[in-house]
Amino acid sequence: MRSLIERLHREHTLASDEFRVLLSQCEEEHLSFINALAREVSLANFGNKIFIRGLIEVGNCCKNDCYYCGIRRSNQLIERYHLDEDTILACCRHGYELGFRTFVLQGGEINDDEMMIRVVTSIRKEFPDVAITLSLGEKNTSVYERFFQAGANRYLLRHETHNDLHYRKLHPEGMSLSNRLRCLDDLKRIGFQTGTGIMVGSPYQTIDTLVEDILYIEKLQPEMIGIGPFLPHHDTPFAKMPSGSMKLTLLLLSIFRLMHPHALIPSTTALATLAPEGREKGILAGANVVMPNLSPVVQRSKYSLYDNKASLGAEAAEGLLLLEKRLEAIGYTIDKGRGDYSAH
Ligand code: SF4
Repeated sequence: MRSLIERLHREHTLASDEFRVLLSQCEEEHLSFINALAREVSLANFGNKIFIRGLIEVGNCCKNDCYYCGIRRSNQLIERYHLDEDTILACCRHGYELGFRTFVLQGGEINDDEMMIRVVTSIRKEFPDVAITLSLGEKNTSVYERFFQAGANRYLLRHETHNDLHYRKLHPEGMSLSNRLRCLDDLKRIGFQTGTGIMVGSPYQTIDTLVEDILYIEKLQPEMIGIGPFLPHHDTPFAKMPSGSMKLTLLLLSIFRLMHPHALIPSTTALATLAPEGREKGILAGANVVMPNLSPVVQRSKYSLYDNKASLGAEAAEGLLLLEKRLEAIGYTIDKGRGDYSAH
């Protein structure tokens, strides 16, 4: 197992069967070993600096009905909200004062693209030096192009699974893996720094589907890779499904770091929700980004993708000092730069 991990470190890839072995037979000692190697790669490329992104959850309305998601269309039990343009800009101003130079505008999939194009245009005009990341779901090619022309730089869209059967177990009729992949191809071609990824331990996921995901991400070469554990939400069809495991999440984080040494890989809120030290463990497994929440405090609990989602303390933009202290405790500091992808 050690020689397999060392080869992954050296050659940045393995054969499918070898990934299968790594995922299914990794003991604690091997996990520590791969986490340490991945951490070294991160330190060599980014130093002990962690990029921060200001997350603004622009709305929890969604036309889709993904079975795993707490803000899915069918959930009648949450209060819906949608931030207007002035409120989003006020969040950006607050974030800019705190030192953020990347804003991530994330929301459910709705059709009000014109409003988001206006918002991106306004942010770009007021803050020419920031990076604007969007995470607004599947759109037509022309809408992505208009987001880009308006000044957006990055786009996050997890593919969730590259296996069609698995995709259909996570999503209802009307959504398709082929459209998700078309979107990711569009985003890359248009010039976005593109992020994709998966939930680890999502229902019906297998070692084989994970290998397919690893190979797809290797082929796409995204600039950002989002890996977090699946966490159930009590008002979804997957309410009774078990959460993804910390061990497998940390293993996959390290695999992706070894395969993609320069990628921007967040230590996700889901990981911080799964365990009190989750964020730190993610960083020590090779992650180099955290995304504190800049959304208005009053709306945060409504953006409930899964149960007990962390949005306060070190997960909150107001908690930057706390985050700084927690990172210091493991030997890291915050980098307030834009933190663009760079292959060098
Ligand atoms: S995962 Fe995204 S697209 Fe699916 S229901 Fe939730 S917000 Fe909508």
